[in-house]
Order: sequence, then C-alpha cells, then structure tokens
Amino acid sequence: MPTVDPGYRFAARVASLKSSAIREILQVVNRPDVISFAGGLPAPELFPTELLGALARDLLQSREAPQALQYGETEGIPALRSRILQRAPFPPGTFGEDGVLVTQGSQQGLDLAAKLFVDPGDEVLVETPAYVGALQALTFLGARPTFLPCDGEGVLPDALAAALRRRPKLLYLTPTFQNPSGVCYSARRRAEVREALAGSDTLLLEDDPYRELWYDTAPPPPVAEGLDPARFLYMGSFSKTAVPGLRVGFMLGAPALVRKCVMAKQAADLHTNSLGQHLLARLLAEPAFDDHVAGLRRAYRPRRDALDAALTARLGGQLSWARPGGGMFLWARLAGGGDAAELLRMALGEGLAFVPGGEFHAEGEGRDTLRLNFSHSNEAKLQEGVERLGRAMEKWRGA
Ligand code: PMP
Repeated sequence: MPTVDPGYRFAARVASLKSSAIREILQVVNRPDVISFAGGLPAPELFPTELLGALARDLLQSREAPQALQYGETEGIPALRSRILQRAPFPPGTFGEDGVLVTQGSQQGLDLAAKLFVDPGDEVLVETPAYVGALQALTFLGARPTFLPCDGEGVLPDALAAALRRRPKLLYLTPTFQNPSGVCYSARRRAEVREALAGSDTLLLEDDPYRELWYDTAPPPPVAEGLDPARFLYMGSFSKTAVPGLRVGFMLGAPALVRKCVMAKQAADLHTNSLGQHLLARLLAEPAFDDHVAGLRRAYRPRRDALDAALTARLGGQLSWARPGGGMFLWARLAGGGDAAELLRMALGEGLAFVPGGEFHAEGEGRDTLRLNFSHSNEAKLQEGVERLGRAMEKWRGA
C-alpha cells in the first residue's frame, strides 16, 4: 500500500479528514453474492431512463444545445431556477429568483454553508444521530459538532434551547425522514424548534432531500417555513426523485446570503453542469415527472413494509426500531446492546452489508445501532437479507 509522502505540507485541517466507513463498506459490496442494505442508493430500475433519453435527444437537437454545452451562470440556469421555485415546499412568493442557487447536489450546499460560516473550533449543533456527509463537510472546516438528543419526533426542544444560548454558528437539521434515523419531525416539534430559534442568531441549515419520499402521509411543511428568511438556508435535491448521477440540488435563502453562497460556489466550480441542468429543467416540465415520483412512493412503500415485516418475523426480540414513514432507511438498535461493527463482520460473512451506526454519532457513541437501506433491494432481497442478518446475529451472539 503506498503511504502519503510525509514531505507534503498539508493544511492543518487535513488532519481531520477520515474516510467514511460507508464508502469503505460499499467497496466490498460489489460482489454479486452480497445483498447490500449499506448504501443510500435509489433503485436504478426505477430511474426515468427512457424519458431522460428522449429529453436528452430533443435537447441536443434543439436550439438550446449550444447553451446546454456551454459555460453558464453560477446561480444556475433560469429555466431550472424557476422550476425549483415552483416546486419548493414554501408558500408562493417566499423566494424570488435571487433566493435560489442551483448546486452540485445538496452536498455542495452543505460544503458552501460550512465554508461561509465555520472557523476552526466553532460549535455547530447537529442531531443524534446525524448525516455523515454533513459531519464531514462541517468538521473538515474545523467545526466542533455538538450532538443534540432526539426522540421519535425530532430534536428535544429544551436541549436545543439550552444549546442555542451558547450562540453556536449553525444548527444543522434533517427534519424530514432523516438519514439515518428515518425520523420525521411532528408539526408540533417543528413549531417548538421555530420557537427555540426565535431571537437566536444561530443560522438553521435545513437539509430536506427525502421530503417527496413519504409512504403514509405527506410530511408537515419545512421547519424553515415561517422563520425569519434571514435566519436559514434550505437545501433540496433531485438525487432521490430524479437521478443522483446528474448531481443537481439547490439552496434557498435570503438574497444577501444566497449571494455569498454564489461567490463561494464560483471559487469552487464556477457553476453546476449545464447539460444536467437543462435536462433536469425539461424533466421537471414534464407532467410525467410527478407520476414518476408517485411511482417511487408506490415502489418503495412495499419495500419498507417488507423489511419491517421480515425483521418482525425473524428478529423481533433482538432488534428495536420504529417503522419509518418515508425516506430510504430503517434505523435499528441491538436490543441487548453490543457492537454493530462486529455484527457487520459476521454479516459480511453471510453475504449481507449494512452500515453500523457509530459513525453517525460522537466518537464512541451509538455502537449498538445499525442503518438498513430498503430502497435499493426488492422485496425478495430484503427478506433474504434479513434471513442473513438473523444468521449473522446467531453467530455473533455465540461468539
Ligand atoms: N443530505 C442528506 C441527508 C443525504 O442523505 C444526502 C444523500 N446521501 C445528501 C444530503 C446529499 O445528496 P445529494 O448531494 O446527492 O443531493
């Protein structure tokens, strides 16, 4: 294995870089015999491939083709920005064209926000557990995350209010079908979070990529709705509803703050890829797109149910979990405690991958948790995967 040349004079922040365990697990799950509950991948057989193919052909034969292949504005192409504004889960008129920025996935929104706000050592508030990609973006810039306690309705308001009194720079929340916990904040809890934020100068980063993937009832409006528009940045994504490979997401916020994000994005990548933006603008203009999203809900709901039912039947007493109302993940806890990373080793031996929950927590916490993805496997694979998990648990308990 080549090692990094010790002669490199890295920036101090490089010391905080560590590879995500998820990426490492994903490298070993390419074996065809392995069932993966590990990644956060949408089902590729549900991609709107034919529609995108037809739109791409039309686009490249149209008068827009040169623009679609040319450099563009950092803010994003106007046609896509106006589609984003139409679809945004906020009352019409909340944001104008100057309140939206097209980003390279919502992950770039996290990176830009971190760059604009985090100085080394700054405190940022996150949920327990928290999305690993956000932790990576924030800690790379030197943020010190404080993990706030949460229950099945979201972050605990008293703990949030107490932490806000320290005036941390940022509060990062994924209130709708969180990755990894699946939790969707109740309307009441959203209101309590807004109340806690009133009068605070901590900026809310609301990350909302799973909003349209609901399986029981549509989620309440974003926490940011009704907040002072100067006090939040809202991030959305087309990775889960269209395709992640286009790498298109967006940020919504106050024009002055979006302007700063635009400048940070100029320095990062000039603009999001033009071809992907043009293609997505056309896709969003298709009436068939909403049918496609409804089709995703219809396809993922029975997968969620199949995983829930198989776990109940095979591992009822050994794991505890709450059935998620949307998103892509079921979050489970080992009923008798233990280390899910060790269980993963047994599971890989049985041909099943999942993500042990430790890395969504503060160092050393949450070892008894695991994240199971249900969007990428069909019902039969979900059942077989749970059977393998059951065998792995028998070995693990016996070990
Ligand atoms: N936020 C959350 C909570 C996510 O789960 C993901 C995808 N794993 C992202 C952001 C990034 O999504 P993308 O960059 O593909 O839009």
